[in-house]
Amino acid sequence: MSELQQFKGVGPKRLENLKVAGIDSLETLLNTLPRDYLHAQKTISISALKEGEVCIFAEALAPVITQYFGGRSLSRTTFGDDSGKIQAIWFNQPWSSKQIEPGKRILLAGKVQVYRGRLHILNPKCLERIGIYPSYPSFPSIPNSVFVSIIKQALDIVAGKSFENLPESFCQRYNLIGKIDAWRMAHQPNSLNEIEKAKRRMAFENLLLFRMAMQLARPQEQDGIPIESDKFKLNEFWSSLPFLPTSAQTRTLNQIVDDLKQSKPMRRLVQGDVGSGKTAVALGAASYVIDAGYQVALMAPTELLAQQHYKTAERLLSSSGIRYGIITGSMKAAQKRRAMQYINRGEWDLIIGTHSLIGQEIHYHNLALVITDEQHRFGVRQRQTLAEKAGDYKAPHILALSATPIPRSLALTLYADLQVSVMDELPPGRQQVKTRIVPENRRMDLYRYIKEKAKSGEQSFLVCPLVEDSEITEAASAFGLYAQLSRSVFKEIPMELTYGGQPADEKEKALSNFYSGKSKVLVSTTVIEVGMDAPNATTMVIENADYFGLAQLHQLRGRVGRGEKESWCFLLGNRNERLETLTKTNDGFQIAQKDLELRGPGEFLGNRQHGRMLNIYGISDLRLIEEVNTCLEDIITDPQQSELRLLLEQLAEQRYASQLQDAALH
Ligand code: ADP
Ligand code: MG
Repeated sequence: MSELQQFKGVGPKRLENLKVAGIDSLETLLNTLPRDYLHAQKTISISALKEGEVCIFAEALAPVITQYFGGRSLSRTTFGDDSGKIQAIWFNQPWSSKQIEPGKRILLAGKVQVYRGRLHILNPKCLERIGIYPSYPSFPSIPNSVFVSIIKQALDIVAGKSFENLPESFCQRYNLIGKIDAWRMAHQPNSLNEIEKAKRRMAFENLLLFRMAMQLARPQEQDGIPIESDKFKLNEFWSSLPFLPTSAQTRTLNQIVDDLKQSKPMRRLVQGDVGSGKTAVALGAASYVIDAGYQVALMAPTELLAQQHYKTAERLLSSSGIRYGIITGSMKAAQKRRAMQYINRGEWDLIIGTHSLIGQEIHYHNLALVITDEQHRFGVRQRQTLAEKAGDYKAPHILALSATPIPRSLALTLYADLQVSVMDELPPGRQQVKTRIVPENRRMDLYRYIKEKAKSGEQSFLVCPLVEDSEITEAASAFGLYAQLSRSVFKEIPMELTYGGQPADEKEKALSNFYSGKSKVLVSTTVIEVGMDAPNATTMVIENADYFGLAQLHQLRGRVGRGEKESWCFLLGNRNERLETLTKTNDGFQIAQKDLELRGPGEFLGNRQHGRMLNIYGISDLRLIEEVNTCLEDIITDPQQSELRLLLEQLAEQRYASQLQDAALH
């Protein structure tokens, strides 16, 4: 039975919701750290207010007035102190100002901002005392105030008990405060300094145990297949292509070929922004391996992308003599059987498909290299199957391609044992896509623009967050938008619709119409995120841009600007810091770093499992990560520390092992 059951304010429903979030004990509860703090340590007099977070001690000069329109509301009143006055406004939260009575001085914390040309204090909260207030990640049915009270109960229980899991000497050596102190300081800090100390202790422990768990989950390294091919000439490969390689491409392919010659299986991640030309590099690696007499599998996350790779292979490998084929889930049974025969007998050298390529039923002839596009992880079991497929239980080389630039801090945590190549250069002549935020009231102008472009032969993507209209949100849906536009403004313009679960024949028709240029507008969900290559497409419109992560928006933007013509990306939504990042830079790494800071590692990775594990302070703190990595290295290599190592292994096992079973990284 969960210790949390006896807590005041925790009924069965909340208990269940906490459990779903991975919180089922005192420790997991207390390890759930505030996402942010409201710093209200001192008050400022109104006359001295500037834009930013502030706390004032003032009285309402008039009762709060709330107006309702539609489902929205606006509440306002004026506050005053001895120095001056300021208007307070609350948007859509009529309850926030309920207790405010005119004539009584209260503490009020909020954000001062210019609104309609004047300074206002927006959505202020009434506070009981000066201090630092934590705000927690949001859990269903558990408002922040309830979470605060649950945490307080937990802190009262653990106070004075022994919860320390790290040896005192270790804590001293690495300048870490005790566990219970850290919990208290993280959840009820008295100063910034306390928060810093708590962060350090919690982040250090978490990162250390996480890295230790990864170390444990790593399967025994098998022998690989050293691939020597003396007659294969890299420069001949490059000169067989219709373009000159960038120096990032040649450098990366050289690194890969060096890895392939080793008897240790390659584990290399190639990170390169959208359009940096990773496919050509991958095909170069494939050609090298095939030339030495082995098979190569190229896996994509979706069928659409697999098809795209197949087309690229057609274009780039036609004169090479390489025999390639594609196998996908939507193929007819007979077709599939035939494909499997080709694979099994070694009549195909390069096999393109989705991740089902490492499924049980496919038997290879002599697989030596697996290339994965946009998937950086293999589970332990998957890796086992892969090794079996390679024959002789030799592990095939693995090359992962990723267009998601992963900030260095995160890469060092997640992929510490991976080799990484960064392709930080785009082929010459690429357009920098220009980006603008478009408020709702300019929508018609945008449609006019798309229409004009269509008339001059240029194509546009319209991306929506949803497939179908939903009752719970007002976000645009691909179906809805397509239906609406094809009946109204775009009546005369040939349009297509595509989305994730679309029947294969419809999808093929839609896409081939768009690729051939017959259709000018493609309405879709994010299925077009990766792999689409339509040089005539010059406009990308993203509906409800705020629904997407920055890295994802950046990827979507990469779908245009692939030809010679000037290209634009329009983000529908309100101007904010997040979206503005995209208007300012095209550098994927900078965008990724910002995304990581704004959303935290869990959301950034789009993987709840890792999110939960890594939802800690410090993940964007490069120095701390490097310190932890050195510390771990130290413990692992020093026989004098074997006792400590054993202890950490146990702790890591307890905290992370079960999750890592399925999500081991290569
Ligand atoms: P990504 O890294 O996003 O997977 P692709 O491999 O799909 O990029 O390449 C994008 C486009 O650029 C393709 O049409 C490809 O043929 C082309 N391309 C790749 N390398 C070069 C190069 N060095 N010069 C010119 N075009 C290139
Ligand atoms: Mg690609």
